[in-house]
Order: sequence, then structure tokens, then C-alpha cells
Amino acid sequence: MINTMYDSLGLSKKVVQLAISVELKLKERFSQIDKIAEYNQLKVLNAMQKCRLSDTHFTNTTGYGYDDIGRDTLEDIYASVFHTEAALVRSQIVSGTHALTLALSGNLRPGDEILSPAGKLYDTLQGVIGITPTKGSLFEFGITYAQVDLLEDFSFDFEGIKKSINKRTKLISIQKSKGYDLRPTFSNIQIKELIEYIRLIKSNVIIMVDNCYGEFVEYMEPSDYGADLVVGSLIKNPGGGLAPTGGYIAGKEEYVNNAAYRLTAPGLGKEVGASNGTTHAMMQGLFLAPTVVASAHKTALFAAALYEKLGFNVIPKSQEKRFDIIQAIDMRAKVNVLAFCKGIQSAAPVDSYVTPEPWNMPGYDAPVIMAAGAFIQGSSIELSADAPIKPPYTVYFQGGLTYPHGKFGIMKSLQTLINETDFEL
Ligand SMILES: *Cc1c(COP(=O)(O)O)cnc(C)c1O
Repeated sequence: MINTMYDSLGLSKKVVQLAISVELKLKERFSQIDKIAEYNQLKVLNAMQKCRLSDTHFTNTTGYGYDDIGRDTLEDIYASVFHTEAALVRSQIVSGTHALTLALSGNLRPGDEILSPAGKLYDTLQGVIGITPTKGSLFEFGITYAQVDLLEDFSFDFEGIKKSINKRTKLISIQKSKGYDLRPTFSNIQIKELIEYIRLIKSNVIIMVDNCYGEFVEYMEPSDYGADLVVGSLIKNPGGGLAPTGGYIAGKEEYVNNAAYRLTAPGLGKEVGASNGTTHAMMQGLFLAPTVVASAHKTALFAAALYEKLGFNVIPKSQEKRFDIIQAIDMRAKVNVLAFCKGIQSAAPVDSYVTPEPWNMPGYDAPVIMAAGAFIQGSSIELSADAPIKPPYTVYFQGGLTYPHGKFGIMKSLQTLINETDFEL
């Protein structure tokens, strides 16, 4: 019956056969992913029970949003999940970049320096910091930036880091996921080693981890290993596909409050900010997040195994351990990127009939193509693919609210590649 269904959805027998053979070999890995989801599900459930989540928290506030018990409870639950003193979880945080900007600008003052000890930061932060001159950047407020690149084997340059930490180093920003880079994503154990090393050199520096795409992929989070702040987007992992918008910052109370004074106003901080009807979805999304992340994780692994078998360079490789939900596939040519993304788009529940086109997105240095037929605009915990149109024509693929959908999307990408380019099975 499934094969008849696949046939009617335009997949050839060859593609379906290949998918079956690839999937068979992933059983053991899939069960490991399910174990992590089980653990994280209990972690989230426990936090909700401990914070006595109740139906009365799903009410709404408007205006100033004083005494919003739903919002405050959501923040307590996040703090409990990440084992931190406090959290700021708001629909007024418009994206991951905004959350990171708040954490930086709230905690840095003129004369302070940010250090990235592990290479270049995410594209949109180049403007935020002012590495590319941008109006309103931290640079305009007298905050400087230093960077230590990874060594050739992608390990940390501990010596270089030691040399770069100085009197002005106030905040160290560690990006867990590779973003649009070709380095591997760091495990939380690697991040732990880095944090412990940094503490030996300067114990009171603020250590922030950009946790985007990393949440619930491992048993632990960077905050379990000494990060002062973890930051991410609610239209990625922790929103579970249901949060309509938003971002979070979890960590030491003082640093979270400093970020809140930027989000709202000095003196007001976390006290204000109407939840405006978003609490219920954010809460339920967090509850679903561990299994949704597992679906995305499995989809990424399936994609890696399939394209690897066809001879494409994939990062990470199918045998490697995974620490985020991103899969990069080196498509070798622009036409292949376009076909891949078209296939993903055609598998979507929303806007399946449109063809994605590259465009000049603000904050990125090359045209970017994005395939996303999502219930929530730009949501990348939903099945989505994006690629900057520049060599080596790498497509970054992520998401999948359910594994059957993710798997179908990957099969469609391959079918489209076969149909629209000279690639053959
Ligand atoms: C997605 C992402 C961000 C923030 O991106 P937004 O599109 O602003 O939410 C930051 N860092 C990394 C590593 C990311 O993957």
C-alpha cells in the first residue's frame, strides 16, 4: 500500500527501493535517537510538573502584560529544563539573531570585547557585532570583537585562545552548530572542555552558547556544562513546531535580566511584555520538542545515508555522531541545488506548488535559496532546505516535524534531481 502511495506521489520504484535499503541500515541509530528523545521528554515533563503547570496559565494578557503568570511559568519551565537560574522566553524576541543580540547588547558595555574562540560566527551576527559595518552595531557603541580560528583539523586552538583573552574580554560567544560553515558541529562535551579551559584563564568572563539547532539532540545542554547563557530560536528545536514565533535566553539570573532590560527597558525588564495569546502554543511546543527533534534528527541521518550512498559529500557522514539537526550536502553544481530545493518544496504541506528561487536576503553575502513549505514562516524545525548560491554549492537541510514527512521530502529531492538534471541512479 505504501508503494502505491509513493507511486501516486511521483516517486519511481528505483528511488523507493533505494530508500528502503538505506533505511534498513539505520535501525540501531534510530533507536539511539529514540532513547535521547525519551530522556528529554521526561526532562520537559518533569519541569512542567515541578512548576505546577495548570490550565489557568493558558490565559492571555494584553497591554503592559503585568502579572502574566503563564509567561512567568513558561520562563520557569525553560529555566528548569536548561538547569539555569532564569530564562527569558518571549514572542517579542523576533528570531534567534534577536535573542543573541539581546544577550550581547544587554551584557556588554563600551570598552568591552567579545571573543569568539571557535571561528567565524553566524552570518547575521557579522552585522550585529559590526564586523561588516552596519547601523546600530555593537561596534558603534564601542564594543570590539576578537576571533580565534579553529585549527586545520577543526579542533580548538587553545594556545591562541589563551593569548586572545585580555582585560577587556567580557563575553565569550561559542556557536555550537556549524551554521553555513563546513566545520563540524561541536558536541556539548567539546563545549564543556572549552568552557573549563576558559574558566582557568578568566573565571568571571560571561560564556554564552548560541544553541540554535542543538536543543534536545543530546542528553545534556551546554548550560549543564557551565555555560552562563544559552540562546536560541523558538521556530527551531524548542518551539516543537507549534510556537508561532519567539526566542529564548536561559542562564544566570543577572545576565538574563540584563538581556531583558534591553528587550523592554532599563528598570522594566521581565516585568512587562504581554504574552498576547502565545503561551499555550509555546508550552505545548516545548512539550512536543523532544520527539519533534528526534524526527528531524532521523530525517537528517536518512538524508546523509542516502546521498552518501549516491557518492555525494555529506557533512556529517552517516556514521558520525550528531550534535544538531543540520545536514549539509555538497551538491557540486547550482542546478543540483535548485533541483534539491524544488523537491523539498514539492513535498511540503503548505505552498507545495511553488518553486523556490534564490534571492538577496539581508544579512547574507550571496543569494540564498530557501525551500520551506511551513505552517510557520521561516520555521526551520519544519522540513526545510537552504543554500547560499556559491561554491561548493552546499545545501543545508534541516527539520521534519514527523519522520515520515522528512523521509518523503528527501525522496522527493532525489526524484527531482533525477527528473531535472542529468543525474542518474
Ligand atoms: C538560525 C541560527 C541563528 C539565528 O538565526 P535566525 O534566523 O535569526 O533565527 C543563529 N545561529 C545559528 C547557528 C543558527 O543556526
